[in-house]
Amino acid sequence: MSSTILITGGTLIDGTGVTPVNNDGILLANGAIVALGDQAMKQASPEATVIDATNKTVMPGLIDSHLHCTFDDVQSNDQLFFHRDPTLVALVAAQNLQKVLRSGVTSFVDPDTLHGVGPSLRDALDAGVIEGPRMKTGVQALLTAAGGTAGPLIPDEGTVGYAQVVNSVDDVILWTRRHIKQGADWIKIHATGSTPTHRGELLVWSANELKAACDTAHALDVRVMSHCRNSESVRAAAEAGVDLILHASFMDEIALDAVVRSGAALCPTFTFLANLADFGASVGASPGMEDVFRNEISATAKMMREAYDAGVTLICGSESGFALTPYGHWHGREMELFVNELGISPLQAITTATKNGAWAMGMEDELGTIEVGKLADVLVVDGDPIQDIKILNNRAKLSEVISRGNRVDLDRPWPDHGRIPNWQIGSWAATSLTWERAYGASS
Ligand SMILES: [Zn+2]
Repeated sequence: MSSTILITGGTLIDGTGVTPVNNDGILLANGAIVALGDQAMKQASPEATVIDATNKTVMPGLIDSHLHCTFDDVQSNDQLFFHRDPTLVALVAAQNLQKVLRSGVTSFVDPDTLHGVGPSLRDALDAGVIEGPRMKTGVQALLTAAGGTAGPLIPDEGTVGYAQVVNSVDDVILWTRRHIKQGADWIKIHATGSTPTHRGELLVWSANELKAACDTAHALDVRVMSHCRNSESVRAAAEAGVDLILHASFMDEIALDAVVRSGAALCPTFTFLANLADFGASVGASPGMEDVFRNEISATAKMMREAYDAGVTLICGSESGFALTPYGHWHGREMELFVNELGISPLQAITTATKNGAWAMGMEDELGTIEVGKLADVLVVDGDPIQDIKILNNRAKLSEVISRGNRVDLDRPWPDHGRIPNWQIGSWAATSLTWERAYGASS
């Protein structure tokens, strides 16, 4: 049951990208926005809960369109692929989703899930079995035997972790149909992967395989997103009909042109790269990666801005779920990076996580903006994100999160869990026990 809530005062950022205005009243009832302005004040019953937003900002709940809710802040690919059992994956995700919601994310898109538990989690959220944001989800990522970012860890065929290996056009068609039958909102493909002898990621799908995924999914009214970390893959994905391109790293003019012509949206997901570049050393990340990732951001940002200016839809996603992007901490950083790296305005950046996020959810008629008839996912932020976009990445600045028409209790202790047996990789020793280390070089 959702309550009746009247939000008064403060500044309204409605999520459409128009200039903020004074909030003259927002009335929420039965899980929806039922009236605005004078009408909200007139229609509010005396029993309505009143939230005074004076000196605060009222805006739509954030939509994180690239989030891995089953990864549990994972430290390595080995953990992801070989140390996670399906029951615990789902139980732990249910707890982590509370963190996501409590950081102002009221909706998210999860491209691929460990053991394909995504549709079950989405259904549990929608039915109110577990607490968390609205979710749209893929099942597992489709990879070729060349592998994705986990390269040689991926088997030649079959399924492991978040991956389903496909090796022919027939395989692609079969698994696309299976994932849709299992409840996929999105088909996720890994167009690029790493091989031992090549620097950077390579396109590891044929044009026919890419097209087979898109044609099969589109025929069943499901969209396709693709992980693309080189220019060739961006072009190939756009030409095949991919709807949403993740990363889109190192795009050249030809790739950009293909994206503009195809109408694909772009979700660069700079946050993971920027966290590693800026803070990796403090958490013991592999040394030497800082410059690589910083270069990827600056090379990609320049073309991303060109794409934005050409009218390409820009989508906000944090890639939360890794040790470098733990749940509840970094969902808003992408907007700050858009402002700093692309040079777009804070208001434009907010739109990528509101109106544009609703497109990624496939719910543009229901979510992403403060308008009568839309669903009641609303934030009250202590401060002005137009003056300082960073506050949207600071949980302490959230004074209200309203999700599905209900106020989320932000005062409870932060949910967390202890060590799970076999979840992390144990090691016999941190270093080699050489004879000299045991007895000293001089003995
Ligand atoms: Zn991802």
